[in-house]
Order: sequence, then structure tokens, then C-alpha cells
Amino acid sequence: MSLKLSLYNKYFMDNIKMVDLKSQYNKIKSEIDIAISNVIDDTSFIKGEKVKIFESELANYLGAKHIITCGNGTDALQIALMVLGLKPGDEVITADFTFIATAEVIALMGLIPVLVDVNPDTFLITPEAIEKAITPHTKAIVPVHLFGQCADMESIMQIAKKHELFVVEDVAQANGCNYKFKDGKIKKAGTIGDIGCTSFFPSKNLGCFGDGGALITNNDELAKNIRSIANHGMTVRYYHDQIGINSRLDTIQAAILSVKLKYLDEYNKLRNNAAKFYDKQLSNISFLKTPVRVSWSAHIFHQYTLIVEENKRDLLQKHLANKNIPSMIYYPVPIHRQKAYSKYNFKDENYPVTEMLSCKVLSLPMHTELSEEQLSFITNTINDFFINF
Ligand SMILES: *Cc1c(COP(=O)(O)O)cnc(C)c1O
Repeated sequence: MSLKLSLYNKYFMDNIKMVDLKSQYNKIKSEIDIAISNVIDDTSFIKGEKVKIFESELANYLGAKHIITCGNGTDALQIALMVLGLKPGDEVITADFTFIATAEVIALMGLIPVLVDVNPDTFLITPEAIEKAITPHTKAIVPVHLFGQCADMESIMQIAKKHELFVVEDVAQANGCNYKFKDGKIKKAGTIGDIGCTSFFPSKNLGCFGDGGALITNNDELAKNIRSIANHGMTVRYYHDQIGINSRLDTIQAAILSVKLKYLDEYNKLRNNAAKFYDKQLSNISFLKTPVRVSWSAHIFHQYTLIVEENKRDLLQKHLANKNIPSMIYYPVPIHRQKAYSKYNFKDENYPVTEMLSCKVLSLPMHTELSEEQLSFITNTINDFFINF
């Protein structure tokens, strides 16, 4: 190999990132920069026209009646629980294997987080576990569409109907994901439950340049109330009908999201291409299990997460790090083992799958800018590691 080529390779291989926001931005820089400078020009930083425009664009894209933007995905979840009028002591069922936000807002509201174990192949909350966890105090279910594919919403909605429970979808990792019903009907993630809550954190599939979030609903009454809660409990200015919070999407972020929404389907396709490459190169390694796709949902690969058997996970991660390949463990400590949640007395033995996953999962670099050279370098490095066993 020539020196020039090897330096070139070294540059690109040393630049493999978990998420490459810079390269993604560079491709749409002029559009983004104009959108930002337009907002600065009319200094409409809060509640500018661009926020309304983005809300209607996203509603249109999702096929949802109402979008109410807010400060971040965690706020969206909190606002959803506030608007449903839940009372302290009410139980809310959610997944044990996920980011903390869902359990956090439940606890913060004085509600009881009821954590359930997940499916070992798909990492998703299961209808069976949900149904088993229902008590006379259960009021809501918060399924999480983890890593980019939807939980079994059709079954979850049936359970919710039977037991008269609210369903709040956590769509933070599944922006733009299609859900397929048994009759062939397709809906977007977040439009199936009573409320969908999403995040535009920069690394999400639809990410802004800071914090951002939104609530999705087809219910007019809920929409009106959500808008009020997110705005200090006001409907008429300075008249506070209920105790609310202050949570809003900056106009600059809305303007950026309007640009990026146009590319979301393409972004999700690029993630899928990378996932297919990984699948092909890694599925023959007996120590690894590549992601399992469910029949009812598309997969938009917010994360590409392997299960690494035989205690090889941490060694593999070190091996990758030695070659400057980043990887992440989502999530290393199950929620039921978190210190802040010890007062709920979760029992380890009720969560064998989450316990297992926290020891075995490893997420590889996944974003819209991975080149075939980078993907080959990653998969070759992984193959090299396992050749020794
Ligand atoms: C990112 C994320 C959130 C929280 O979103 P923020 O915008 O960071 O508050 C909630 N749930 C899940 C599953 C997430 O991945």
C-alpha cells in the first residue's frame, strides 16, 4: 500500500465515531445555516413561527392530528403523565431494560414504576409481562420502542383496552419507524397509543442541535391540555388553570428540525444499510447474536446492538478500542439495580433477561455517515478477535 493511501485509511479509520453528527451536518450545511440565520434575523427565539411550522410538518409526516413540541424527551414523558391525571400511588408499567427517563418521570410524579422484564431476542417489553404486572392500581403502560423497533403495540393496545389503561409510547429511539398491523395497515411509531413522546436529542434518528422533544396525539382534548401544561398551565395568557411546567422547543431547533425531517427517511435507510452490512459480516460468528427483527415493525437502528456470549463482551470492547473503534454498552446497569430506585424493592430474580443483557450487549457505531471502508474495518476487526477462539 502506498504511504498516501495508508495515511488516508488511517485518517478515516481513526475517525470512526459512534455517531458522526459533523459529517451529517456538512452535507446539509448551507440549508441548516440559512434556517438558523433566518431565526436570528427575526429574533423570534421563543415560540417563533418556525415552531408551529415544524409541528405541522411533523404531524403531517407521522399522520398524527397533533404535535406539541417541548424541551426534551424526558419532559414529553412527564407532561404525558401529568395530562392523564394520574394520582400518587397509581402504578405505571414500563420496561426494565431502557434509558432511565421513563422510570424517572413516573417516580418523580409520585407514581409507582412497575418494571417488567423484556424479550431476550428483541430487547422489547412484552405483552405477556405487561399483563402479568397489572393490578387494580395500574393506570398506564409506557412501552419503549427500544433501539429503533416498535414494541408489539397491537397486543399492548388490546391489553390496555381490556383493563382500561392509558398507553404512552416512548418513541425517542424510533422516530419515523413504521408499525404494521395484522390487517396490513401501517402507522408511524408514536401515533398508536393515547400519547407518543419523543426526543430530538442530537444523536437520535431525528436530532436537533441541542435539546428538543415532542408529544404526539390524535386526541383533541389531550392536545389542548398538553399545550397548556407545557406552558405554565395557561390557555389564556396569565390565567393559570392548572399547575404546569415550562417546556418548549427553541425556534432555532424547530428550524433545524424542519430541514432534517426532510431527510429522516433517507437517514433511516442509511442506518439500515449499515445494519445489513454488519448482519452479513457478523452473523456467522458463533459467539455473537446480531439484532433480531420483529414481524410487526420496521427497524430504524437507533442502535445496532449485539449480544456477545461467553463473557467475551468486555474483551471485544477493549479489542475494538485498541483499534480506535468506539462501542457502547446500552445499558450497563438495569433500572431495577439503580441506587435511586432501591426504595421500590425490585427483586433481581424478577429480571433475568435484563440482568443477562446488561452483561452481554454491545452497540456498534451506528449513524448515517458510515462508509463501506469503515464498516469493513469494524467487522474485520471483530472477525479477527474471534478467530483466536
Ligand atoms: C433519549 C431518550 C429519552 C429522553 O430524551 P431526552 O430528550 O434526552 O430527555 C427517553 N427515552 C428513551 C428511550 C431515550 O432513548
